[in-house]
Amino acid sequence: MATLQLQGDLATAFDKIHQIGDGFSGHITMERGAALQVPLPEKYVRMTPDEIAAGITQARAILGERLVVLGHHYQREEVIRWADFRGDSFKLCKDAAARPEAEFLIFCGVHFMAESADILSAPHQKVILPDLHAGCSMADMADIDQVEEAWESLLEACAGQKIIPITYMNSAANLKAFVGRNGGAVCTSSNAKKIMDWALTPVEQGGAGGEKLLFFPDQHLGRNTAVLEMGFSLEQCAVWDPHQDMGGQSEETLRSAPILLWKGHCSVHGTFMPIHIDNMRRQHPGVHVVVHPECTYEVVVKADSYGSTEKIRQIIAAGKPGDVFAVGTEINLVSRLALEYPDRTVLSLNPNVCVCSTMYRVDGPHLLWVMENLIAGRVVNQIIVPEPTASEAKLALDRMLQIG
Ligand code: SF4
Repeated sequence: MATLQLQGDLATAFDKIHQIGDGFSGHITMERGAALQVPLPEKYVRMTPDEIAAGITQARAILGERLVVLGHHYQREEVIRWADFRGDSFKLCKDAAARPEAEFLIFCGVHFMAESADILSAPHQKVILPDLHAGCSMADMADIDQVEEAWESLLEACAGQKIIPITYMNSAANLKAFVGRNGGAVCTSSNAKKIMDWALTPVEQGGAGGEKLLFFPDQHLGRNTAVLEMGFSLEQCAVWDPHQDMGGQSEETLRSAPILLWKGHCSVHGTFMPIHIDNMRRQHPGVHVVVHPECTYEVVVKADSYGSTEKIRQIIAAGKPGDVFAVGTEINLVSRLALEYPDRTVLSLNPNVCVCSTMYRVDGPHLLWVMENLIAGRVVNQIIVPEPTASEAKLALDRMLQIG
């Protein structure tokens, strides 16, 4: 099987693919995670939803146990219905690891999730992302060159202080690798407190011995965890803006702040505002407002509860008939929860919230296209994290798993 290693900008990459033509089959590895998707063959574009569904049913029957389909909670209905496992990114990686007999893991999610699945899966397993344009705007906000530059400046400004880098699961493999080789760990929205506690706990007590931590790429998850769960004040959290000299902070602030937050955010969760909660409480007295910790601090403190997508599911599942929930997360999950619990009212906290446009890239036609290629003996859209990135990123992921 051919391997095409691409570097440089997207236009160059598309030119290269064009020169090779439609006959290319194999896997594509790209520096810096740039997305590259060949256009779908006309056949798939013309098919009706019923034809797509019939095709996927048939393809799954042919591929049988060789295939596992993983579906993130934010995927649309026409995709998630085919998932063998549903969940958040970390749960899905663990689910995949529990099926070592499967040769192909189709990850219906976004790029960083498929990268993590590739790093954590067995060597014989191939991870496939149905649409390579399915990235994550938050992960893209922490470019590795900017991160390396910031790190050097921080080591200089904070000489004598030990800084532990922590990255949210929603980050590119090269950022996880940076964290791994600099003594840090990955975290999820479920275990962020545990991992941040570990970073600041003395080595003799089993921690990493950091005087401060640098949290990537979501400032909101970092701030919400530090302030609401670890007892830090808002003033103790300093934001590093990669577009400003010295992150836009004075040397004194950088030295004194125990929590340094990379200036990144989720474009979906950033749309929820405190006023949405006020409106909801006015319209639905007694409503339970639950939001994702990628929302701003102002939204999270006003909500009744907050947590990962798994926790949001559990909160609604634990409700009673007649309960009203207003949920601050991606709309596909909210709509699905409303369907699954028809005796409860499940509303989106912001009636005008948009879908995650990158998650939305994965659709039935792309899913059928990758499956039919597998049947024909071609692995398209395989995600492979090259070495040494994979091993270094695994260090950071393994530290998270050890911490719990
Ligand atoms: S919802 Fe936000 S964090 Fe999740 S994939 Fe979309 S942009 Fe990224």
